[in-house]
Amino acid sequence: MRANMENADGTGDVVADEAGLTDEVDPRGAGRAARRDEAVRAAVEQGLLDADVPLVALLDVQGIRESAAGLRAAFDAVTAPGTPVLHAFAVKASPLVPVLRLLRAEGIGAEVASPGELALARAAGVEPEHTVLDSPAKTLAELREALALGIAVNADNPQELERIDALMAASPSRSPLGIRVNPQVGGGSIEALSTATATSKFGVALRDEGAREWVIRAYLDRPWLTRLHAHSGSQGIALSMMARGVSETYALAEEINGRAGRQQIDTIDIGGGLPVNFASEASSPTYGAYARLLSETVPGLFDGRYGLVTEFGRSLLAKHGMVVARVEYAKSAGGRPVAVTHAGVQVAARTVYAPQSWPLRIAAYDAKGRPKEGPAVVQDVAGPACFAGDLLAQGQELPLLRQGDYAAALDTGAYYFAHHYAYNSLPRPAVHGFVTDGTGAVTFATVRPAQTIEEIVAESGAPHAHTLTDLTP
Ligand SMILES: *Cc1c(COP(=O)(O)O)cnc(C)c1O
Repeated sequence: MRANMENADGTGDVVADEAGLTDEVDPRGAGRAARRDEAVRAAVEQGLLDADVPLVALLDVQGIRESAAGLRAAFDAVTAPGTPVLHAFAVKASPLVPVLRLLRAEGIGAEVASPGELALARAAGVEPEHTVLDSPAKTLAELREALALGIAVNADNPQELERIDALMAASPSRSPLGIRVNPQVGGGSIEALSTATATSKFGVALRDEGAREWVIRAYLDRPWLTRLHAHSGSQGIALSMMARGVSETYALAEEINGRAGRQQIDTIDIGGGLPVNFASEASSPTYGAYARLLSETVPGLFDGRYGLVTEFGRSLLAKHGMVVARVEYAKSAGGRPVAVTHAGVQVAARTVYAPQSWPLRIAAYDAKGRPKEGPAVVQDVAGPACFAGDLLAQGQELPLLRQGDYAAALDTGAYYFAHHYAYNSLPRPAVHGFVTDGTGAVTFATVRPAQTIEEIVAESGAPHAHTLTDLTP
């Protein structure tokens, strides 16, 4: 394992923020790490992992519940009593129906950004009033469906607002409606995830000439526009910059309400984006630290005049998932040991293609699923795909992995194994949730079965095998 205090999110924020650690159930992740070890051993003992099933993904149900409760408690602590607060999980972070259902049971709704994500949220039973639709490319049919269901919609741009105008004129909807703005507060350390840059594709760019006045007019002309939305970015954005984005959004809402002469905007959607610490076990920054920073920076947002919507994704799930892969072969090249495993680009596309931005911690287990002991050895952990860059980790120090051992890629509960990349026709691995009873007994439940080779063949056009050769002008 690498040293603990360095932070891999590139925000420059200190990881071990003592003040922010006290309000979490398991801030240093000791309980989580112990459950993880029990789960890997039990997965091997119970045959979820073996020579024939060399790859699985595991989700820590207790950890997910604790994060959801921590999120709710953090905002409860800073909002005026009775303030309506909806925490809408960004479905894109873990598009798995049982996960959405688990979060729903913990009082968390859904933020969706495509017809598929909306269908997943509905399959999980998430209520329309707990669902928010944001996406930069909503079709007319999507908008019509959302308004018919009463789902909250944030319009991304003037053309989308025109479509909503037409739908509202045809049949009024109880959907809470708002506009997404881009406060243009700047980017973070990962360009691809920075949504508040000057030229971001999302929302109405507030600092552009005439844009602010256009937004204000849009509200004054439409009494049914009651929300304002901004999401300033994901992993790699410093908390201070996120808070600045929220602060600018709040100031705009105040200006609009002032011009309207009433509390027309009654709810502010502050987006998600809390960064995750991928460098060590600790959960940091915490929801508590962020909520406190917001309440200090933007006190008016929490005095009871505004309802709140949040849209956290990665921070709810990342630390509660792992991919466990069998070491098929252990070899050496140019003096460096290389463990060739079954987890690579298909389950960790971001890490494989952008290893500097997305380093992963690897934990080593022996063939019986017990944590490996022994001196740390610098080694590569490779995946099964046929290109040289298919590496889960490069030059990581851990006990030497041998054939038949297991390598676990940690903190992969969001944007990893649920985001399969079909390179080399590698199948989607099974996802199992687990709970432990504290005495070593582990119970698993299927979240998603593994994709079969037959399914891959069928999805790859096998039923249409003859169509091209039969095609004639
Ligand atoms: C991706 C996204 C989120 C969630 O971001 P995380 O970094 O996973 O918390 C929230 N809101 C919107 C609009 C998004 O695009």
